[in-house]
Amino acid sequence: LIRFEDVTKTYADGTVAVGGLELEVREHELLTLVGPSGSGKSTLLRMVNRLVEPTAGRVTLDGQDVMSQDPVLLRRGIGYVIQDVGLFPHRTVAQNIATVPGLLGWDRHRTQDRVRELLQLVGLDPAVHGPRYPHELSGGQRQRVGVARALAANPRVMLMDEPFGAVDPEGRRALQVEFRRIHDELGTTVLLVTHDIDEAILLGDRVAVFSQGGRLEQVDTPVRVLTRPATPFVEHFIGGAR
Ligand code: ATP
Ligand code: MG
Repeated sequence: LIRFEDVTKTYADGTVAVGGLELEVREHELLTLVGPSGSGKSTLLRMVNRLVEPTAGRVTLDGQDVMSQDPVLLRRGIGYVIQDVGLFPHRTVAQNIATVPGLLGWDRHRTQDRVRELLQLVGLDPAVHGPRYPHELSGGQRQRVGVARALAANPRVMLMDEPFGAVDPEGRRALQVEFRRIHDELGTTVLLVTHDIDEAILLGDRVAVFSQGGRLEQVDTPVRVLTRPATPFVEHFIGGAR
Protein backbone atom coordinates (compact mmCIF):
# COMPACT_ATOMS: atom_id res chain seq x y z
CA LEU A 1 0.00 0.00 0.00
CA ILE A 2 2.73 2.42 1.04
CA ARG A 3 6.31 2.02 -0.13
CA PHE A 4 9.45 3.83 0.85
CA GLU A 5 11.81 3.45 -2.10
CA ASP A 6 15.40 4.29 -1.20
CA VAL A 7 14.18 7.29 0.77
CA THR A 8 16.65 9.70 2.32
CA LYS A 9 15.90 12.88 4.23
CA THR A 10 18.73 15.24 4.98
CA TYR A 11 17.78 18.45 6.78
CA ALA A 12 19.31 21.81 5.81
CA ASP A 13 21.97 21.57 8.53
CA GLY A 14 23.21 18.25 7.15
CA THR A 15 21.44 16.00 9.67
CA VAL A 16 20.55 12.71 8.01
CA ALA A 17 17.18 11.89 9.57
CA VAL A 18 16.31 8.98 7.27
CA GLY A 19 18.94 7.12 5.27
CA GLY A 20 18.23 4.97 2.18
CA LEU A 21 15.05 3.49 3.57
CA GLU A 22 13.39 0.56 1.81
CA LEU A 23 10.12 -0.41 3.46
CA GLU A 24 6.73 -1.65 2.37
CA VAL A 25 3.61 -1.16 4.45
CA ARG A 26 0.93 -3.75 3.72
CA GLU A 27 -2.74 -2.96 3.45
CA HIS A 28 -4.63 -3.47 6.75
CA GLU A 29 -1.54 -4.02 8.85
CA LEU A 30 -0.58 -2.19 12.01
CA LEU A 31 3.12 -1.48 11.62
CA THR A 32 4.88 -0.04 14.63
CA LEU A 33 8.01 2.08 14.11
CA VAL A 34 10.28 2.02 17.12
CA GLY A 35 13.69 3.46 17.88
CA PRO A 36 15.52 5.88 20.14
CA SER A 37 14.97 9.63 20.10
CA GLY A 38 16.31 11.15 16.90
CA SER A 39 16.17 7.98 14.81
CA GLY A 40 13.98 9.64 12.19
CA LYS A 41 10.63 8.10 13.08
CA SER A 42 8.58 11.30 12.98
CA THR A 43 10.36 12.45 9.85
CA LEU A 44 9.50 9.30 7.96
CA LEU A 45 5.88 9.39 9.12
CA ARG A 46 5.55 12.99 7.97
CA MET A 47 6.81 12.10 4.51
CA VAL A 48 3.67 10.01 3.97
CA ASN A 49 1.30 12.99 4.25
CA ARG A 50 3.74 15.44 2.65
CA LEU A 51 4.56 17.42 5.76
CA VAL A 52 8.20 16.60 4.95
CA GLU A 53 9.64 16.19 1.46
CA PRO A 54 12.23 13.46 0.83
CA THR A 55 15.69 14.61 -0.28
CA ALA A 56 16.06 11.50 -2.43
CA GLY A 57 13.96 8.47 -3.31
CA ARG A 58 10.20 8.39 -3.21
CA VAL A 59 7.24 7.48 -1.07
CA THR A 60 4.33 5.92 -2.93
CA LEU A 61 0.72 5.31 -1.98
CA ASP A 62 -1.02 2.84 -4.29
CA GLY A 63 2.03 3.02 -6.53
CA GLN A 64 1.79 6.80 -6.93
CA ASP A 65 4.44 9.17 -5.67
CA VAL A 66 2.82 11.19 -2.86
CA MET A 67 4.74 14.27 -4.02
CA SER A 68 2.68 14.22 -7.24
CA GLN A 69 -0.61 14.23 -5.32
CA ASP A 70 -2.69 17.17 -4.17
CA PRO A 71 -1.74 17.53 -0.47
CA VAL A 72 -5.29 18.42 0.60
CA LEU A 73 -6.84 15.38 -1.06
CA LEU A 74 -3.96 13.19 0.09
CA ARG A 75 -4.42 14.22 3.72
CA ARG A 76 -8.16 13.70 3.53
CA GLY A 77 -7.52 9.97 3.20
CA ILE A 78 -4.89 9.87 5.92
CA GLY A 79 -5.69 10.27 9.63
CA TYR A 80 -2.91 11.88 11.66
CA VAL A 81 -2.70 11.65 15.44
CA ILE A 82 0.10 13.27 17.41
CA GLN A 83 1.02 13.27 21.07
CA ASP A 84 -0.78 16.42 22.11
CA VAL A 85 -3.74 16.03 19.81
CA GLY A 86 -4.40 19.72 19.26
CA LEU A 87 -8.16 19.78 19.76
CA PHE A 88 -9.84 23.15 19.29
CA PRO A 89 -10.16 24.41 22.88
CA HIS A 90 -13.29 26.49 22.32
CA ARG A 91 -15.26 23.74 20.65
CA THR A 92 -16.92 20.81 22.37
CA VAL A 93 -15.74 17.26 21.82
CA ALA A 94 -18.62 16.62 19.43
CA GLN A 95 -17.89 19.83 17.50
CA ASN A 96 -14.21 18.94 17.30
CA ILE A 97 -15.00 15.64 15.63
CA ALA A 98 -17.60 17.22 13.34
CA THR A 99 -15.05 19.69 11.93
CA VAL A 100 -13.32 16.95 9.95
CA PRO A 101 -13.40 18.00 6.28
CA GLY A 102 -14.80 14.64 5.24
CA LEU A 103 -17.95 15.34 7.26
CA LEU A 104 -18.43 18.96 6.25
CA GLY A 105 -20.88 18.27 3.47
CA TRP A 106 -23.04 16.07 5.66
CA ASP A 107 -26.41 17.05 7.12
CA ARG A 108 -26.77 17.50 10.86
CA HIS A 109 -28.35 14.17 11.68
CA ARG A 110 -25.87 12.14 9.73
CA THR A 111 -22.98 14.01 11.34
CA GLN A 112 -24.45 13.57 14.83
CA ASP A 113 -24.90 9.85 14.23
CA ARG A 114 -21.32 9.53 13.06
CA VAL A 115 -19.98 11.49 16.03
CA ARG A 116 -21.95 9.28 18.42
CA GLU A 117 -20.68 6.14 16.73
CA LEU A 118 -17.06 7.33 16.86
CA LEU A 119 -17.24 8.30 20.53
CA GLN A 120 -18.61 4.86 21.39
CA LEU A 121 -15.90 3.25 19.30
CA VAL A 122 -13.17 4.90 21.36
CA GLY A 123 -14.90 4.13 24.65
CA LEU A 124 -16.44 7.50 25.46
CA ASP A 125 -20.07 8.22 26.29
CA PRO A 126 -21.58 10.54 23.64
CA ALA A 127 -24.09 11.99 26.11
CA VAL A 128 -21.50 12.64 28.82
CA HIS A 129 -18.34 13.50 26.87
CA GLY A 130 -19.75 14.90 23.61
CA PRO A 131 -20.87 18.24 25.09
CA ARG A 132 -17.68 18.78 27.15
CA TYR A 133 -14.79 21.00 26.20
CA PRO A 134 -11.31 19.49 25.82
CA HIS A 135 -10.09 20.95 29.14
CA GLU A 136 -12.88 19.07 30.91
CA LEU A 137 -11.38 15.71 29.91
CA SER A 138 -8.44 13.69 31.20
CA GLY A 139 -5.34 13.39 29.01
CA GLY A 140 -6.28 9.85 28.03
CA GLN A 141 -9.80 10.91 27.13
CA ARG A 142 -8.41 13.71 24.97
CA GLN A 143 -6.25 11.19 23.11
CA ARG A 144 -9.36 9.10 22.55
CA VAL A 145 -11.09 12.12 21.02
CA GLY A 146 -8.01 12.65 18.82
CA VAL A 147 -8.28 9.06 17.60
CA ALA A 148 -12.04 9.47 17.00
CA ARG A 149 -11.43 12.64 15.03
CA ALA A 150 -8.73 10.99 12.92
CA LEU A 151 -11.09 8.09 12.16
CA ALA A 152 -14.04 10.33 11.32
CA ALA A 153 -13.49 10.50 7.59
CA ASN A 154 -12.85 6.75 7.33
CA PRO A 155 -9.21 7.13 6.30
CA ARG A 156 -7.47 4.21 4.62
CA VAL A 157 -4.30 5.07 6.47
CA MET A 158 -3.66 6.30 10.00
CA LEU A 159 -0.36 7.91 10.97
CA MET A 160 0.15 8.00 14.72
CA ASP A 161 3.14 9.69 16.32
CA GLU A 162 3.51 8.70 19.98
CA PRO A 163 -0.28 8.79 20.29
CA PHE A 164 -0.29 7.56 23.89
CA GLY A 165 2.91 9.26 24.95
CA ALA A 166 1.35 11.84 27.24
CA VAL A 167 -0.97 9.41 29.01
CA ASP A 168 -0.19 7.94 32.44
CA PRO A 169 0.92 4.27 32.41
CA GLU A 170 -2.40 2.84 33.53
CA GLY A 171 -4.53 4.81 31.07
CA ARG A 172 -1.95 4.05 28.46
CA ARG A 173 -2.39 0.33 28.77
CA ALA A 174 -6.16 0.66 28.42
CA LEU A 175 -5.74 2.85 25.35
CA GLN A 176 -3.32 0.42 23.76
CA VAL A 177 -5.65 -2.52 24.23
CA GLU A 178 -8.62 -0.54 23.00
CA PHE A 179 -6.77 0.78 19.99
CA ARG A 180 -5.71 -2.73 19.03
CA ARG A 181 -9.39 -3.77 19.18
CA ILE A 182 -10.43 -0.78 17.04
CA HIS A 183 -7.77 -1.68 14.51
CA ASP A 184 -8.93 -5.29 14.37
CA GLU A 185 -12.49 -4.08 13.85
CA LEU A 186 -11.82 -1.49 11.14
CA GLY A 187 -8.78 -2.93 9.40
CA THR A 188 -7.32 0.52 8.78
CA THR A 189 -3.68 0.49 7.75
CA VAL A 190 -1.77 2.04 10.64
CA LEU A 191 1.78 3.34 11.03
CA LEU A 192 2.36 3.92 14.72
CA VAL A 193 5.52 5.57 16.03
CA THR A 194 6.71 4.92 19.57
CA HIS A 195 10.00 4.77 21.42
CA ASP A 196 8.52 2.20 23.79
CA ILE A 197 9.57 -1.26 22.60
CA ASP A 198 6.91 -2.92 24.77
CA GLU A 199 4.21 -0.86 23.06
CA ALA A 200 5.67 -1.68 19.65
CA ILE A 201 5.66 -5.40 20.43
CA LEU A 202 2.18 -5.39 21.97
CA LEU A 203 0.47 -3.47 19.18
CA GLY A 204 2.30 -4.30 15.98
CA ASP A 205 1.45 -6.92 13.40
CA ARG A 206 5.02 -6.13 12.43
CA VAL A 207 7.64 -4.02 14.11
CA ALA A 208 10.25 -1.86 12.35
CA VAL A 209 13.28 -1.02 14.50
CA PHE A 210 15.31 2.10 13.68
CA SER A 211 18.67 3.38 14.89
CA GLN A 212 20.36 6.79 14.56
CA GLY A 213 20.53 8.19 11.05
CA GLY A 214 17.16 6.62 10.29
CA ARG A 215 18.68 3.22 9.64
CA LEU A 216 16.17 0.39 9.47
CA GLU A 217 17.71 -2.41 11.53
CA GLN A 218 14.94 -4.97 11.25
CA VAL A 219 11.32 -5.27 10.22
CA ASP A 220 9.60 -8.42 11.36
CA THR A 221 6.82 -9.92 13.45
CA PRO A 222 7.02 -9.13 17.17
CA VAL A 223 7.91 -12.72 17.99
CA ARG A 224 10.80 -12.77 15.55
CA VAL A 225 12.13 -9.42 16.71
CA LEU A 226 12.14 -10.79 20.25
CA THR A 227 13.54 -14.22 19.48
CA ARG A 228 15.81 -13.42 16.52
CA PRO A 229 17.09 -9.87 16.69
CA ALA A 230 18.73 -9.18 13.32
CA THR A 231 21.54 -6.96 14.61
CA PRO A 232 23.39 -6.25 17.86
CA PHE A 233 21.54 -2.92 17.95
CA VAL A 234 18.15 -4.64 18.02
CA GLU A 235 19.34 -7.11 20.62
CA HIS A 236 20.53 -4.28 22.82
CA PHE A 237 17.40 -2.22 22.22
CA ILE A 238 14.96 -4.96 23.22
CA GLY A 239 17.21 -6.03 26.06
CA GLY A 240 17.48 -2.54 27.51
CA ALA A 241 13.73 -2.19 27.70
CA ARG A 242 13.00 -5.09 29.98
P1 ATP B 1 11.82 11.39 18.87
O1 ATP B 1 11.65 9.99 19.36
O2 ATP B 1 12.64 12.22 19.80
O3 ATP B 1 10.52 12.04 18.49
P2 ATP B 1 12.35 10.84 16.08
O4 ATP B 1 12.82 9.43 15.89
O5 ATP B 1 10.92 11.14 15.78
O6 ATP B 1 12.73 11.30 17.54
P3 ATP B 1 12.94 12.93 14.16
O7 ATP B 1 12.09 13.95 14.81
O8 ATP B 1 12.45 12.36 12.88
O9 ATP B 1 13.28 11.73 15.17
O10 ATP B 1 14.39 13.56 13.94
C1 ATP B 1 15.43 12.86 13.29
C2 ATP B 1 16.66 13.74 13.23
O11 ATP B 1 16.39 14.86 12.40
C3 ATP B 1 17.07 14.32 14.59
O12 ATP B 1 18.47 14.35 14.64
C4 ATP B 1 16.49 15.72 14.57
O13 ATP B 1 17.27 16.59 15.34
C5 ATP B 1 16.56 16.06 13.11
N1 ATP B 1 15.49 16.99 12.72
C6 ATP B 1 14.16 16.80 12.83
N2 ATP B 1 13.46 17.83 12.32
C7 ATP B 1 14.37 18.72 11.87
C8 ATP B 1 14.32 20.00 11.24
N3 ATP B 1 13.14 20.56 10.94
N4 ATP B 1 15.49 20.61 10.93
C9 ATP B 1 16.68 20.04 11.20
N5 ATP B 1 16.82 18.83 11.79
C10 ATP B 1 15.69 18.18 12.12
MG1 MG C 1 9.38 11.95 16.94
